[in-house]
Amino acid sequence: MRYYGNVFRPPSEARSLIIQATVGCSNNNCTFCYMYKDDQFKIRDIDDVIADLEDVREYFSYYERVFIADGDALVLKTEDLVKLIDYINENMPHVNRIAAYATAGDINRKSVKELQTLYDKGLTILYIGFESGDDQILKDVKKGLTYKDYVDAMEKCNEVGFETSITVIAGLGGRARWRENAIETAKLITDTKPTYVSYLTMRVYENTPMYEDYISGKFEPLTAEEILFEIRLFLENVDSEGTIFRSNHASNYVLLGGVLNEDRDDLIATIDQTLKEKNFRPGMLRGF
Ligand code: SF4
Repeated sequence: MRYYGNVFRPPSEARSLIIQATVGCSNNNCTFCYMYKDDQFKIRDIDDVIADLEDVREYFSYYERVFIADGDALVLKTEDLVKLIDYINENMPHVNRIAAYATAGDINRKSVKELQTLYDKGLTILYIGFESGDDQILKDVKKGLTYKDYVDAMEKCNEVGFETSITVIAGLGGRARWRENAIETAKLITDTKPTYVSYLTMRVYENTPMYEDYISGKFEPLTAEEILFEIRLFLENVDSEGTIFRSNHASNYVLLGGVLNEDRDDLIATIDQTLKEKNFRPGMLRGF
């Protein structure tokens, strides 16, 4: 099977068959993001994608999960996604879950009826990068989306019944907006009630515009303590009963996991203990 450029998938899709229906990300503008900087965005011809799958037909029976890549597969026309999902359903007998990255923009461009069709055919989980709930931060990092865009998209997702896995980034607002990042993100999660919310921790990568902001002093990264204060403030303010909360990404200073709101006190206690003991995960374990 042919793959183009850098291919990414969420950690929980490690055992999935990755089907690259698009190359790169249609936004590819976020100042902090290193993922697809070398890739020219392209929507692949869906018949080419299916032809590639035919080449690996002998391995189909190994897979129970499929992940449609790259950065925002929902940018595909609904009819093309339907064709691909129909092919998966007809040819991969053991697949019981189909997932994709999606942006709020992609979701909002589709009608509820189109989204319902995709869900009914088996695309049941969408991974969506909110990054932050603070409109000023979203503007500063050129995300190209607003708080309202996320609320509108999640209303549709929740109406259809998608599982939604949301990522947010501690430290994305730097020292200037850490409080806003915590509080507005907590408000956004409260307003949208996703299935999962996962914290990442801001890292400045050299090949990104954010690196220039860091060098010039415009962006001041948070220390490990400050990152934990930010996540703590988020937890104090969020109200999203039943949402599964995680900070188990490699970038994080402390590994957390629980269910909101019932595990809030335990999660905060773990943060406080980590702050007291200064027992932050070392850089080596955080992928540095
Ligand atoms: S963060 Fe997401 S939307 Fe932004 S450039 Fe990276 S992949 Fe694209």
